Amino acid sequence: MTRRPYIVGNWKMHGTRAMLSEARAIDRAAQRHMKVEVALAPPFTLIHPIHREAEQISVGAQDCHHADGGAFTGDISAAMVADAGAKFVILGHSERRQGHGETDAMVRAKAQAALAAGLRIIMCCGEAAATRESGHALSFVKKQLKASLPPAEEMPADIAERVTVAYEPIWAIGTGTAATTDDIAEMHAAIRKLLVELYGEEQGTGVRILYGGSVKPENAAEIFAVPEVGGALVGGASLTADSFMGIALAA
Ligand code: PGA
Repeated sequence: MTRRPYIVGNWKMHGTRAMLSEARAIDRAAQRHMKVEVALAPPFTLIHPIHREAEQISVGAQDCHHADGGAFTGDISAAMVADAGAKFVILGHSERRQGHGETDAMVRAKAQAALAAGLRIIMCCGEAAATRESGHALSFVKKQLKASLPPAEEMPADIAERVTVAYEPIWAIGTGTAATTDDIAEMHAAIRKLLVELYGEEQGTGVRILYGGSVKPENAAEIFAVPEVGGALVGGASLTADSFMGIALAA
């Protein structure tokens, strides 16, 4: 990895204020490991409390709405999460695509809103088990990513540098079984090639590509050694400072 490894915790729908002590512990550990960029995406309700106390880690959201505001009961805009202290937003996670019917077009609209609000984005992509078994994982992910990211004309260098991609095969999320390093290498190389085709050499090579799906302290080092892996998006193992920082230390 040439840039600082980027290790992002996705707390999903876990965490009340009782979890603030864990965030504090992660922040303290991150201060001792400045070679790694550590970030946390807690539930919306914890963005501001964690942001207020954090000295080292950056805080982000797990979703935002595509509109600036209006009659959208229960939704939260990009400007609102930024106002609460979020520096980035995770978009297009498979749990949102599947559980909330988010299409590529909806995810792209959210990405445009988030970038316009000054946020960084982590754009998730990844295939289901059936797609991999049928041999179409690469073409599926490339098509999904191309349709979910903003088009080239909206990606000058200063915008592209706020974009990160996360490859998360659905069958590896929360299952305890990560993708093999060969599969990760093949997919990350294909994503890099696509990004360069879409945005040109400079912008395309600058985008970091994270791997996500059952990353844990035990498998982190071998995953980080794969070419084009710029860090990890971590679910379950980000819920305790011990396991999350165990991953960060492997980077
Ligand atoms: P996991 O989740 O690390 O628990 O597999 C990853 C994710 O969904 O971002």
